[in-house]
Amino acid sequence: MVKMNQVCYRTLDMPEPWRLATYEAAGGYQVWRKILQEGTPRDQILEEMKKSSLRGRGGAGFPTGLKWSFLNPNTPGQKYLVCNSDEGEPGTCKDRDILRFNPHQVIEGMAIAGYVMGVTVAYNYIRGEFYEPIERFEAALKEARAAGLLGVNLQGSGVDFELHMHIGAGAYICGEETALLESLEGKKGYPRFKPPFPASYGLYGKPTTVNNTESFASVPVILSKGPDWFLEEGIPNNGGPKIFCVSGHVNKPGNYEIPLGTPFKDLLELAGGMRNGRPLKAVIPGGSSAPVLLADTMMNITMDYDALAKAGSMLGSGAVIVMDDTTCMVRVLARLAHFYSEESCGQCSPCREGSGWVARIVHRILHGEGKPGDLELLDNVAGNMMGRTICVLADALAMPVQSFIRCFRDEFEYFIQHGKSLVDGGKLR
Ligand code: SF4
Repeated sequence: MVKMNQVCYRTLDMPEPWRLATYEAAGGYQVWRKILQEGTPRDQILEEMKKSSLRGRGGAGFPTGLKWSFLNPNTPGQKYLVCNSDEGEPGTCKDRDILRFNPHQVIEGMAIAGYVMGVTVAYNYIRGEFYEPIERFEAALKEARAAGLLGVNLQGSGVDFELHMHIGAGAYICGEETALLESLEGKKGYPRFKPPFPASYGLYGKPTTVNNTESFASVPVILSKGPDWFLEEGIPNNGGPKIFCVSGHVNKPGNYEIPLGTPFKDLLELAGGMRNGRPLKAVIPGGSSAPVLLADTMMNITMDYDALAKAGSMLGSGAVIVMDDTTCMVRVLARLAHFYSEESCGQCSPCREGSGWVARIVHRILHGEGKPGDLELLDNVAGNMMGRTICVLADALAMPVQSFIRCFRDEFEYFIQHGKSLVDGGKLR
């Protein structure tokens, strides 16, 4: 039996879990109150975070404790903390539910992180379309301020921590942390050249740490139950439970918070199994920018950062897109390519031109106008997009292009030769 909902979704079964009273009844704010009362040493919290092996839940999987150590709490001057709640990766729908059902846990996690890094001002950048999560988070901020958990000289401790909400405008690229910072400053959401990284040159040019919503929400539980507990809930180097957003051809699509290292077949079972009992064809295991994996690989894999990387894909944001044998992979790639070409910010030629080129070629194949040599051309264009741009959006399209052609070459060749799909006989056109 797979354990579920132990960290970010732990209040889900309680009435009105988004309220302060509910969160406190579940043990919420105990860590933050203890810090304010006792002045817990910052180094002690940092060591516990490192020991927990929490890896960033936004996509990159960078160790959270290590990231926090880049900001020295004793450095004079303004520093900032930013929560990335922009959640735009297709297939991902977990952070909006944390904000909707457990917003206080994000606030407590951010307050603790701010204390550790000596940061007194923080922002939560929330995607503009998340109407209900925005309302819930705003209401939670008001409750926390009224309870003396946010503000200045909190509970007479001398600790200040102000947290503000910022609503984005829905551009996918603003989920990239430096584009998010530009947007937060009121500019166009253009990713910045790196280095310098945000830890040295972040919001308004000041040292800044950016973490994902799920990462912050994990913090209070790690510190209250202990880093050893968290580590044991996952596997070595992959601490804790993680939320997987299962979509596609399953009976019960939804968010499942389960231990890292859980076999994929167990996750599939939790999601009710394959729709209409059809065979599994392929899975995109970590959001639309992750390379696709075949059914045989997935049925023998565990859901963690290391296993998926070893299989040639990535865990990414934890969005698991399940496809059965009725799926036309040419059509899937056409949809993905259109999305990335629309969302390219246009700063870099390989991304701006390459994504549009890829989208047009796949669109042409899908409409029965493919030509011999198209697959080599696609592979060549994708190869020239990777590693040559300011941010990884170009790679986020190039990797799926190459993996789709590698895994489903016969389907693409059939479409080019016959002008219709090998899977559905052209019905989708
Ligand atoms: Fe913009 Fe694409 Fe360059 Fe990223 S890779 S900065 S999205 S043009």
